[in-house]
Amino acid sequence: MTGAFTCSVKTLLAGNGSWSKRTVSMKLWNTVPEQAHGSGRFLLPRRDFTPAYLQSHESGSLKDKIDEALECLRSCTLCPRNCEVNRWEKYAVCKVARYARVSSYFPHFGEEDVVRGWLGSGTIFFGWCNLRCVFCQNYETSQKGQGDEVTPRDLAGMMLELQQKGCHNINFVTPEHVVPQILEALPYAISRGLRVPLVYNTSAYDSLHSIRLISGVVDIYMPDFKLWNPEHCRKYLLAPDYPAAARDVVRAMHEQTGAMKVDEDGLALRGVLVRHLVMPGMLDDTQEIVRYIASELSTDTYFNIMDQYFPAWKASSEDKYKEIGRRISQRELSQAFAHAAAAGLWRFDRRWRGDFRLSAAGWNL
Ligand code: SF4
Repeated sequence: MTGAFTCSVKTLLAGNGSWSKRTVSMKLWNTVPEQAHGSGRFLLPRRDFTPAYLQSHESGSLKDKIDEALECLRSCTLCPRNCEVNRWEKYAVCKVARYARVSSYFPHFGEEDVVRGWLGSGTIFFGWCNLRCVFCQNYETSQKGQGDEVTPRDLAGMMLELQQKGCHNINFVTPEHVVPQILEALPYAISRGLRVPLVYNTSAYDSLHSIRLISGVVDIYMPDFKLWNPEHCRKYLLAPDYPAAARDVVRAMHEQTGAMKVDEDGLALRGVLVRHLVMPGMLDDTQEIVRYIASELSTDTYFNIMDQYFPAWKASSEDKYKEIGRRISQRELSQAFAHAAAAGLWRFDRRWRGDFRLSAAGWNL
């Protein structure tokens, strides 16, 4: 169904931490699609939702997790690289020592409609990365370390600023190597009124230990399951163990939170949203990944097949990567969807909110 309609908008006023419900007229091009709510099967009423981290904070388990995570920094095995370096004193593969680095933070309107809503997803982009993808589209941030070091209080302030702007969630981008720093910032943010869901937006090159540490803290997992073939992972991610690590952690994410659930406005509140960037000439990887997701997680997994690959970073200039020096074809994209459908997946992400872009200020909230 298409057309304009009126819906309620709930915003959190960070100043006093209370919910304020306002009704505004919104021109949307579609109502929430079946793929998101599943005729109510994947509806989590907003009134029944409490962010996971608030419960962990109240029970005291968040403090235990912070202590354990900071201790892990002394011999870091927080990701599959297992560097065992003391990050209180120096850094290793991910180039981040005691404090996280942030390159930018802002309301992001390019994320999936279930995540960006109409006021944006509150993204915080972390500097550096534990992968070395030769085609990285954010290489200035991930491979050159663009950004500034932040204290836990700084990071908490960014979360609150994004919430105050009306963002529907806080979306940690490239968080694999800074799980302790994220956890450490949360009590500062919670005490000053953080109430929106947390999104863990990851390459899926995480350790199971990290995923256990953020169990009961993260509300929405957004792993990008990139490649399946270890040889492809060795050449293009510089991580031949990537497929095994990704398989383990996406399953653990699903065991923690289940298939993605949305509220009455089609906003993600809890669960797993799997992304997959289709790579040129690597449809076999796609086929194995969708089979795995369907059989080991659920055919109800919300799935975003991404078509925006373009050769960037080393893939745009080095001859040894010339086979991925092109965009994917329409035929390859169709094949990716066909593989996913054949595996039984059906909750495919698509745009339905239209192409509007309004800031919180634009709504005069
Ligand atoms: S998080 Fe960084 S230091 Fe720790 S194991 Fe991974 S790459 Fe090494």
